[in-house]
Amino acid sequence: MKQLQDMLQQIDGNSYKSYKTIQGRYSFHRYELHVDYVQGDPFAAPSKIRIIIPTAYRNIKAEWKNDSNRKVYVEDRIARSIGKAVSQNKIQPRGTGKSGLIAIDAPGQEILERTAVSLDPEHVTICLTVGLPANGRRINGKEAKRLFFDAIPAILSDSIFSIKDDALEEVAELSDQHQAIRSEMKKNNWITFVADGSILPRESGISNRPLKNAVPFNSPTANCVSIDVPHRDQPVHGMAIPKGITLIVGGGYHGKSTLLQAIERGVYHHIKGDGREYVLTDPAAVKVRAEDGRKVSGVNISAFINHLPHQQDTTHFTTDNASGSTSQATNIIEALEAGARTLLIDEDTSATNFMIRDRRMQELVARDKEPITPFIDKIKQLQDQLDTSTIFVMGGSGDYFDVADQVIMMDQYKPTNVTEKAKDIATKYPAYREDEIEQSSGKVSNRVYLQNSLQTYKGKKSKVQAKGLSTIIMGETDIQLDYLEQLVDSSQTNMIAEIIRYLDQKQILKKELTITQLLDKIEKQIETVGLASFATRPNEHPGELARPRRFEIAATLNRIRTAKVK
Ligand code: ADP
Ligand code: MG
Repeated sequence: MKQLQDMLQQIDGNSYKSYKTIQGRYSFHRYELHVDYVQGDPFAAPSKIRIIIPTAYRNIKAEWKNDSNRKVYVEDRIARSIGKAVSQNKIQPRGTGKSGLIAIDAPGQEILERTAVSLDPEHVTICLTVGLPANGRRINGKEAKRLFFDAIPAILSDSIFSIKDDALEEVAELSDQHQAIRSEMKKNNWITFVADGSILPRESGISNRPLKNAVPFNSPTANCVSIDVPHRDQPVHGMAIPKGITLIVGGGYHGKSTLLQAIERGVYHHIKGDGREYVLTDPAAVKVRAEDGRKVSGVNISAFINHLPHQQDTTHFTTDNASGSTSQATNIIEALEAGARTLLIDEDTSATNFMIRDRRMQELVARDKEPITPFIDKIKQLQDQLDTSTIFVMGGSGDYFDVADQVIMMDQYKPTNVTEKAKDIATKYPAYREDEIEQSSGKVSNRVYLQNSLQTYKGKKSKVQAKGLSTIIMGETDIQLDYLEQLVDSSQTNMIAEIIRYLDQKQILKKELTITQLLDKIEKQIETVGLASFATRPNEHPGELARPRRFEIAATLNRIRTAKVK
């Protein structure tokens, strides 16, 4: 093994390129350092290193890592402690560009499987990025020594080497509680659970942290259930929403969208103190919205849209510029194609003509002049034929009272169950709508993306790279993900970019798998060999990756502008 200290001394003052020579493995007192990737210059993307700690120096109890759910929580908790130590670190090596930077892919409010910290039976592996110090474009060996021999050891001492077992035990217990709630939900066919006392609103439109002084959630009596969970004396109480069609109504600004958004995010698990730590939703719940302008490739939206002007085919609908209603229909069909069991819809982000078409409009515009079969006429069919549940917010039309299994009203942020009242009103004031159900087969398409969908080359170079949360640059085109409301962490976007790169490089699409088969295959690979197995160098620092859901992977493929389908 090389001696890092000597090497840094030797290359001090050399041109920055000489840093490449420090790539390799080094032994420290309590860990091994792997310098996997060395940046090309002080301003380029920072270098990637791993710290590998044998369990002899940091014991991780078997019961924290034998269970795959608990393991994710414990890894997440360690990553948070390192993130905190990094932000409080006082030893700051200096220099030009990114000199002295030390970073870990620290988690946000959600607990996601990620590559930042990973546990195996014998080690804790920590992935960091660092900016190797320079003066101008020359190596600053002295500051580099401070980075490796002072700053990083101090950060590790303040985090992984000092984090208390209690802190790890606490998140392992939270994992058990989440699993207990999920299994109770499954047993009772509940699609979402919102615990009493939860804080649903967020600090602001751009913050994912809880709003201070918010009104805590309090379940309607009719929906209140109690769940026994491990590691606490009292059961958890809250609102359970069963499978079926649930309508959320209420005055404007009374908290309808906030409730739906919390439900949307309940597909993920949240940390203690988030306010949504006991808000859990069917993992196969997908938010669908209008998204005009999006690309659509060969989707069968004929269940909703037929007889478009100029005989455009809606059984293989393709467009570079979808309208509000066609995009929303597409989003629903694609969600079902990827395996969605629950749809979440908000009036605020829906196309009005997709959601409602009242009696008067039916009279004026004849059925054969209107391509759209509104959602109200399909929602039952979805439930009966595909067993798909829907939770949706609709403050502006009572037509849905007829089809809803239950109606929840938000009043000053407090929900009440008004199902009976709504049904009485529906009898008293009939909507006189004509059903517009067309007996479509109810079959959801299962398309095949062809290999040449992935145009990853720009000139001679193949490139697939995430840029923030909602853009992936693929070759010469961008994939826009702004409207995927359940994509929550830019490391998930990184992972989706890696998946696309992998599919291209390994020519997986040549196998002509259906979307379902493809998603199953990707998920199986993540589960059996891990996130890193998709990376360019799976046995080194794999990059800052977090696990996306299959729905967001599918949604990304579905937005590729160069897509070719069969
Ligand atoms: P709606 O969809 O019914 O029009 P929103 O859900 O958009 O209403 O909520 C309106 C405002 O009220 C938002 O600013 C939101 O943050 C705030 N809000 C929602 N729920 C609560 C609550 N429980 N306590 C305090 N403020 C809340
Ligand atoms: Mg709203």
